[in-house]
Amino acid sequence: MANFTKEEIDIIVVGAGPSGIAVSAWLNKLGKNNVVLEKQDCCAYLWKKKIFDRLHLYLSKDFCSFPFLPHANSSPMYMPKKDTLQAL
Ligand SMILES: Cc1cc2nc3c(=O)[nH]c(=O)nc-3n(C[C@H](O)[C@H](O)[C@H](O)COP(=O)(O)OP(=O)(O)OC[C@H]3O[C@@H](n4cnc5c(N)ncnc54)[C@H](O)[C@@H]3O)c2cc1C
Repeated sequence: MANFTKEEIDIIVVGAGPSGIAVSAWLNKLGKNNVVLEKQDCCAYLWKKKIFDRLHLYLSKDFCSFPFLPHANSSPMYMPKKDTLQAL
């Protein structure tokens, strides 16, 4: 985790769900100092604490990958919760 002074922050991302984490990954890649603020006590709160363990994404892996984390050919077509959390 990077530490910036307030003056050094370029962008604040609100929410550390999959969208916020993905945006932050891209901002890091673009060299933009960013901070992700999350109101819950962890990132990916919905996925960690609210979604049942047997959940699989309902879109195939071709449509659901995180930035800079391509799926392995051997990974399941529909990502299970544990793989989604691992990627996050
Ligand atoms: C059963 C189910 C199946 C799904 N299947 C798929 C699928 O197959 N493919 C797919 O692409 N998507 C799927 N989704 C949808 C999507 O992946 C999830 O809903 C995902 O969690 C959305 O990510 P998000 O970051 O946009 O929102 P969230 O996960 O809701 O994250 C938002 C975060 O912002 C935080 N927040 C909100 N307001 C503030 C604030 N004011 N200050 C600080 N923090 C704040 C919240 O606490 C939360 O952690 C599925 C969802 C469900 C429920």
